[in-house]
Amino acid sequence: MSTLEIRDLHVSVETESGPKEILRGVDLDISQNETHAIMGPNGSGKSTLAYSLAGHPKYKVTSGTAKLDGEDLLSLSVDERARAGLFLAMQYPVEVPGVTVSNFLRSAKTAIDGEAPNLRHWVKDMKTAMERLKVDPVFAERNVNEGFSGGEKKRHEILQMELLQPKFGILDETDSGLDVDALKVVSEGVNRVRENSDIGIMLITHYTRILRYITPDHVHVFVAGRVAEEGGPELADRLESEGYDRYVQAAAAKA
Ligand code: ADP
Ligand code: MG
Ligand code: MG
Repeated sequence: MSTLEIRDLHVSVETESGPKEILRGVDLDISQNETHAIMGPNGSGKSTLAYSLAGHPKYKVTSGTAKLDGEDLLSLSVDERARAGLFLAMQYPVEVPGVTVSNFLRSAKTAIDGEAPNLRHWVKDMKTAMERLKVDPVFAERNVNEGFSGGEKKRHEILQMELLQPKFGILDETDSGLDVDALKVVSEGVNRVRENSDIGIMLITHYTRILRYITPDHVHVFVAGRVAEEGGPELADRLESEGYDRYVQAAAAKA
């Protein structure tokens, strides 16, 4: 069984006034076929966690471990992590001028699998995935994220996840900036990947709204750089009515 194990992870970011500790001892276990919602206020370090796992050079792991199927994830390069089965859907997807969606996806698939996909199957898979995500076919020939609307950017992230078939998907605020229709389409995409594969998902979000469409198995409240509380889906309902204040105050009292 595939596992992602994060133990006492501490991460600092380099700022103008020196290194600043953002993650302060994160413990988290995700197994295949599980969806974990990571919920926390702005600035609590959710994206830092996502970037640290994906290998962003700006974020320095100062202690702790992260293992994918028992292998030290943190010693791997960004592309090795992707080949090991880790996928990150970014909160703010970046533009890749001069590279079409079609070429981007095929290159990514080739890099991850170590060989080019069978062209006929690939074209069909891509067409099917795009139709399901209600993406216009001309999208494939546009440059990655260039002039994309917020909804198109997020659909493109899910399109990648559907086609690349990772072991673990980290979705960083995939719900932010989406209207209800786009949120539904994107959520259906995520649920399809859950059904059709053994993926484990870390669903990072600020709001409970997306959890109406994607039911998590576990909910983690993330405050001040660590997990403050864990529970089942009912914890999300409590956050919806009570907000994060209680946890923020408790974390401040401890610091
Ligand atoms: P979240 O995703 O939960 O909103 P982030 O991980 O983006 O939180 O940020 C957590 C904290 O780390 C914030 O105070 C933010 O300003 C700081 N931070 C994150 N990345 C950087 C960076 N590259 N440079 C300086 N500060 C950063
Ligand atoms: Mg963030
Ligand atoms: Mg499954």
